[in-house]
Amino acid sequence: MQPTHTSPDRGRAALGPALSLVHTGAAPTRSVLTGALGVTRATAGAITGELQALRLITVDARPAGGTRGRPSHRLAVDPSGPVVLAAQIHADGFSIALATLGGVLDGPEDFPLPDPATPEHVLRAVVAEAARRIAADPRRCVGLGLAVPTPVALPERIAVAAMYLDWPSGTPVGELLEQESAAAGLHLPVDVANDANLAALAEHRHGAGRGAKHLLYVTSGHAGVGGALVVDGRLHTGSAGLALEVGQVTVDPDGRRCPCGNRGCLDVEADPPALLAAAGREPDPARPLLDQACEVLAEAAAGRTRARAAVEHVTDRLGLGIAAVINILNPDRVVLGAFHSSLLAAAPDRLTRVVAERSYWGRSGRVPIAAAELDRSELAGAAELAWTPVLADPLTALTSP
Ligand SMILES: [Zn+2]
Repeated sequence: MQPTHTSPDRGRAALGPALSLVHTGAAPTRSVLTGALGVTRATAGAITGELQALRLITVDARPAGGTRGRPSHRLAVDPSGPVVLAAQIHADGFSIALATLGGVLDGPEDFPLPDPATPEHVLRAVVAEAARRIAADPRRCVGLGLAVPTPVALPERIAVAAMYLDWPSGTPVGELLEQESAAAGLHLPVDVANDANLAALAEHRHGAGRGAKHLLYVTSGHAGVGGALVVDGRLHTGSAGLALEVGQVTVDPDGRRCPCGNRGCLDVEADPPALLAAAGREPDPARPLLDQACEVLAEAAAGRTRARAAVEHVTDRLGLGIAAVINILNPDRVVLGAFHSSLLAAAPDRLTRVVAERSYWGRSGRVPIAAAELDRSELAGAAELAWTPVLADPLTALTSP
């Protein structure tokens, strides 16, 4: 017998995709959802009813103003529904926030790294603040996601090159996070992933990458350069989670020394320290490098010659790196995060021109380059990581003990 579109299994299998459509804003009404899922109106009604019962979405039956024809129920995420805890470790400290569905971060908080900043001490401090925040909020917390500035090898979730945190290579960051969470009495799913990967995912779902089929994301927040590729909504991880190390693309064979052992990698030629060096400035270790780099960008905008030349130099290096990656991956959009989005704003024509001139595909048809839109892409991405089990199977994630 042919399965019908109203079968319970079909409805249940569609809960995750339906929730994803509301989560990303792609289905603002039930009629849009019905069309996107390819189900009957009755099934769509059952699906939205189930998601509403789980307090994941709200269904507003009042007709939207100004619409013609049959009014459709409006769908939105339920702001009083479950939340997740998003956490991010970066070279200057760590941050946490609660997050609702829909990519909304609720009151991000920033903390300095503990001393000593060993993996155990840092993860313990993150989990302690997370547990405090979760306990103080009346909403049910259903997961914890952590973004870290290091490649994370899968499936073991091992930090393989945490050079900007000074952690030993091979730190089992996933296992440590689980241990610390259990010790703190947090009984919820926890997961950890590379910060650039997570930022790309957040930008794809809620920011400048929406609608891109092959989204290339390149960013630098402190020191070093990260990258990620989102294909058809999914992160391209490579065979072991380590794909898209765009920071190790050589853009100057005689360039600055890279922590990886090579010279002239994008990692050290297109990050905040590279701009400071090009501008003849000594980095102040007591202040965030991104702030210091932005001061150079402001000087360039004010017309100072040395700063202007430094911005052009680093922009050209970044353009070379992006062009090399475009040739291999053929993305339909490039989104730049943090320092790189500021660099794009400072020299938009120059970066676009270098990328077009240096990429084989860029010359025939330009790849749009956009600045990231989210305030804290990495933290927002950590929330996406925490939502993963819920988006995959809401019923199991929220009703299993
Ligand atoms: Zn390198």
